[in-house]
Amino acid sequence: MKHIRNFCIIAHIDHGKSTLADRLLDSTNSVTAREKQEQLLDNMDLERERGITIKSHAIQMVYTYEGQEYVLNLIDTPGHVDFSYEVSRSIAACEGALLVVDAAQSIQAQTISNLYLALENDLEIIPVLNKIDLPSANPEEVTDDIVDLIGCDRDEIIPASAKNGIGIEDILKAIITRVPAPKGDENAPLRALVFDSVYNPFRGVETYFRVFDGSIKKNQQIKFVATNKAYSADEIGTLKLVQFPKQEIKAGDVGYLITGIKDAREVKVGDTITDAENPTQKAVSGFEDVKPMVFAGIYPVDTEDYEELRACMEKLQLNDASLIFTPESSAALGFGFRCGFLGMLHLEIIQERLEREFDMTVITTVPNVSYHAYSTKEPDEPIIVSNPSDLPDPSTIDHVEEPYIKASIITKADFVGPVMSLCIEKRGEITNQTYLTTERVELTFDMPLAEIVFDFYDRLKTVSKGYASFDYSPIGLRTSKLVKVDVLLNGNTVDALSALIHFDNAYDIGKRMCIKLKELIPRQQFDIPIQAAIGSKIIARETVKALRKDVTAKCYGGDISRKRKLLEKQKKGKKRMRAVGNVEIPQEAFMAVLKLN
Ligand code: GDP
Ligand code: MG
Repeated sequence: MKHIRNFCIIAHIDHGKSTLADRLLDSTNSVTAREKQEQLLDNMDLERERGITIKSHAIQMVYTYEGQEYVLNLIDTPGHVDFSYEVSRSIAACEGALLVVDAAQSIQAQTISNLYLALENDLEIIPVLNKIDLPSANPEEVTDDIVDLIGCDRDEIIPASAKNGIGIEDILKAIITRVPAPKGDENAPLRALVFDSVYNPFRGVETYFRVFDGSIKKNQQIKFVATNKAYSADEIGTLKLVQFPKQEIKAGDVGYLITGIKDAREVKVGDTITDAENPTQKAVSGFEDVKPMVFAGIYPVDTEDYEELRACMEKLQLNDASLIFTPESSAALGFGFRCGFLGMLHLEIIQERLEREFDMTVITTVPNVSYHAYSTKEPDEPIIVSNPSDLPDPSTIDHVEEPYIKASIITKADFVGPVMSLCIEKRGEITNQTYLTTERVELTFDMPLAEIVFDFYDRLKTVSKGYASFDYSPIGLRTSKLVKVDVLLNGNTVDALSALIHFDNAYDIGKRMCIKLKELIPRQQFDIPIQAAIGSKIIARETVKALRKDVTAKCYGGDISRKRKLLEKQKKGKKRMRAVGNVEIPQEAFMAVLKLN
């Protein structure tokens, strides 16, 4: 145990975490030339394309310092707020963290939120000032910022360029000399933390764990504490770029486990693995069942594809336990599923995976959060509303609660005004304003989560000209004056377009929704009235005017291939349309309320 170091890299997005990880692997010769690839650790296609790390992984390196070999376990953490619970579990598996700060960008919102997570878990922090090669780097100022933030000495901060390989040896030495060796009792009953799990279609679920006490042996009967299910440890091992099977993994170390489990939901991140016969009395603390934060309906474009969609969703759930879904039906869209996601990125990923891996074209309805409605008859039992059209008749409701978050925004002093206006428009209440330096300010707000779902990131980027970073964490439910705004097309309510909106904004948003839908709904042979309503009261109205002539008319007499192209283009455009009554609605229209500006 004395010669093991478990550490993670924490950073704001794009500050160089993946690049630094690659460089550490290089310097410790952990990668053969054949395996070498830019940003090795981000191995899902989607991750690579989006340049983000979705799933955390672990990798083992060996480094010799003063004649002694050390095992360094690098535990990678996801870089997006949707996956913050996984970040917290990865951090809990470590004794130390490299805090990477971009020498041009300085401290950003996720630098701080990740640092807090690391400090809560008593991690040794090694600050790394990255990208010192950049002409725009401000090493002196950013060093001051880091000193102010964590109260370290200037010389504890390691200047580096992950890109050019500067400072890498210093970082490796610091990991050995500054990160404490793991502690634990090798003779106690097995106690290991699950910090990640990955679905492998051939081998079943691979569980990544950190042993705190005891050891895990090949073929041992083990048990997961939270699910209380026992399995045989068919294979255990350590992780390099490939897996190295082992007979035993002892306290302090990190490894993988394969038990033949075929359903991702049986392995929960944050759970404790213990011995089935001689279980530990103290499970690793901090276990939580992750709860979806954002909900949306997913419907097949072709109603006949419902059963096929169900089969795809079931397969997706086998390898993504945080996806939940239940069947629902919509008067407008027919049969589909109400799905729960960790956040907006997670939603996009699922939608994209349905298309890429399963070739399913789906309609996704407006995302919403989950509300608690209290009826006047049973004021103690909340009715959980994860679809706005399920909100009971307002006359029977006492009050409605919605989820709130604590939002932290770091921006330049120049943009404090516009950022505040935006947050106030989004029903935020400022709770704190701290000048990190004379130029950089941290603002904290209590805000409804629903407002973040609705187009917040883009607006924040615009009002701050890109100089704002943002992070948030849930703080529970609060009572709000919410009303259901319905949309009627050609006189028929389209349930999939209903949204719960704060009373003060309902008229304005209803109006803007009608205007937006007018832009998005293609003209047809007849006028299509678009109305927004609260209950039976119409609050806004627009009309999509009938087409005047056949769009292909202008091609008659012209060349036939041009006409065919035009028809094909129309057909393609139709792919993501749904006919509701006699009105064709494109996919964008279902998301219209998200982009009202
Ligand atoms: P992550 O989001 O924290 O994983 O950041 P990445 O490692 O993906 O890096 C983000 C961008 O910064 C990439 O374009 C990298 O090539 C670049 N980058 C990372 N480290 C350095 C560095 O030391 N110097 C310079 N100039 N660019 C860097
Ligand atoms: Mg990365």
